[in-house]
Amino acid sequence: MATEKAQALVLRTTDWSETSRIATLWTREFGKVRVLAKGGRRLKSAFENALDLLTLCSIVLIRKSSGGLDLLTEAQVVQRFPRLGTHLPSLYGAYYVAELLDAWTEENDPHPGLFDLAVETLRGLGGAIQEAEPVRSGLRVMRFEMQLLCELGYCPVLEGCAGCGTARNEGAPGPALFSVAAGGLVCPACQPVQRDRQALSPAGLRALEALAQPGEAWRLAGRDDPAVDAEVRRLLGQYVTYLQGRRPRLLSYLESVDENGTGPKRERG
Ligand SMILES: [Zn+2]
Repeated sequence: MATEKAQALVLRTTDWSETSRIATLWTREFGKVRVLAKGGRRLKSAFENALDLLTLCSIVLIRKSSGGLDLLTEAQVVQRFPRLGTHLPSLYGAYYVAELLDAWTEENDPHPGLFDLAVETLRGLGGAIQEAEPVRSGLRVMRFEMQLLCELGYCPVLEGCAGCGTARNEGAPGPALFSVAAGGLVCPACQPVQRDRQALSPAGLRALEALAQPGEAWRLAGRDDPAVDAEVRRLLGQYVTYLQGRRPRLLSYLESVDENGTGPKRERG
């Protein structure tokens, strides 16, 4: 049987037998794959520690044609992200990236651009790249989240009304209103039928727009205002929860720490 090579991020692993493991990998070449790693639980195996969670590795696998698990024959570490072990907000953010990829992507549906962005996000969170102006881990995670939504066809409508398509009235008084059910902003005429609508501050709206754009505009989103970060974090979380049909497990953790990792910010009832 032919073997294939791929770049992969380890999203999840479970023990399968005394010696073997099943791993869920997000690959650049094939999208999500589930592989059986025979001997993967032995200390000295063909995989060494390449199957640790959130490791970027280069793999060789034998693809199964119908439904079954692929067989992993080799895995080598390309990169680990050591800062994740020492900075709680980055660790939660990285787990959230893995949870989103696992929940939102399909087998045999590759998105190479999203793969590259996931790796870039982990490099940023994990301290593997040095930047002149480092950005907040929470902002970096929201950038990935928004780009994932847009790549998969769920970019929120921000340029007009998600209900009727009317262009946004920049001069309208009061805050914009956002509806997760409608999938974006809603105009005054559509507001009565969008009962889940909520106010979105001008700064929050600008931050959402910056996160959705290609390029580097997102780095300035929120201008280091914690209130804007919190507003956008809450809204994106609600939007993802609505679309996914359940609340991602890591959201509560993400919302519970501040950038210094000193959370919880407040008692949750
Ligand atoms: Zn409308």
